[in-house]
Amino acid sequence: VLKNMTDGVIATDRKGRIILINDPALQLLQLERNETLNRPIISVLGLDQDYDFEDLIHMKDSVNLNFSTHDTPYVLRANFSVIQKESGFVNGLITVLHDITEQEKIEMERREFVANVSHELRTPLTTMRSYLDALADGAWKDENIAPTFLNVTQTETERMIRLVNDLLQLSKMDSQDHQFNKEVVEFNRFFERIIDRFEMSKSQNVEFIRLLPEQTYFVEIDTDKLTQVIDNIISNAMKYSPDGGYIRFGFTVQDTFLKVMISDDGMGIPKENLTRIFDRFYRVDRARARSMGGTGLGLAIAKEMIQAHGGQIWAESEEGQGTTIFFTLPYELEDEVGEWD
Ligand code: ADP
Repeated sequence: VLKNMTDGVIATDRKGRIILINDPALQLLQLERNETLNRPIISVLGLDQDYDFEDLIHMKDSVNLNFSTHDTPYVLRANFSVIQKESGFVNGLITVLHDITEQEKIEMERREFVANVSHELRTPLTTMRSYLDALADGAWKDENIAPTFLNVTQTETERMIRLVNDLLQLSKMDSQDHQFNKEVVEFNRFFERIIDRFEMSKSQNVEFIRLLPEQTYFVEIDTDKLTQVIDNIISNAMKYSPDGGYIRFGFTVQDTFLKVMISDDGMGIPKENLTRIFDRFYRVDRARARSMGGTGLGLAIAKEMIQAHGGQIWAESEEGQGTTIFFTLPYELEDEVGEWD
């Protein structure tokens, strides 16, 4: 029974020395049997700094054993029960170990998320408070200053609204109650229209280069959602583009997927941050990105949406040279599209 359990089980004698340990417990503790037998359980579990064996006998709650290193979390939970005779004489201790790393990770992410949201909302609120205080203290009478101050509070309000809308969208996707309105569209035309819109309205000196194939391809997508994803990627590319830079748009076909790319000549992203830019609230340069009005949620939303379409999204970048964002979408074979029409 002990051998085939997934939980780790350890039994000790009345002095707290290990007399039995099953294989899962050895695996969880990453130890060999001869490193554990006859040794005090308190030191095998790494608890000797905080407890003695007597404490474990009276322990009502479980204890978390944290073996995490700087970059890999690893946490076990230990539950203890005493083997006791009716007379009260303690015969030994049974310890059951579970791996709770995943739970801990989720819990940590949740705490971090709440801290991030609070911080992101506090920043614009503090700014607004100081400007409103100044206005209330008499600045409202100054025709030169008052409009500027009001403008700041308006910008900050807009930013908070954007942030809350982004958060609502993420929470909707998390709860899976979002509906996709998928339709089959010609990807070439769909992509071109978005690029056109940016090209018409751009005020910056950046040039657009289109590297789109002649052949048309069809995808089944929620056009509103995909538009939002591409808008976000292009806005970032424009935001970080230098004056006179180029933004290239293209897609190629790989197996059953279209691989879309949007690349810029901007400042780039350091290698170690390339995957993190898709995390919620992650920004490479916090102060700078925030001053550009970003919420830090755009690419996190893009990732959720692309994954919900069965694709993947990632970034490649050379610092100082530029960034390319890639994403894939499964495409429809044309004879299948025929059936849709
Ligand atoms: P934000 O609202 O801050 O733009 P995103 O989720 O869209 O949030 O992007 C996250 C971060 O990734 C940005 O703050 C920025 O640091 C980095 N980033 C995204 N796209 C680019 C790009 N094309 N060039 C350089 N950095 C980028």
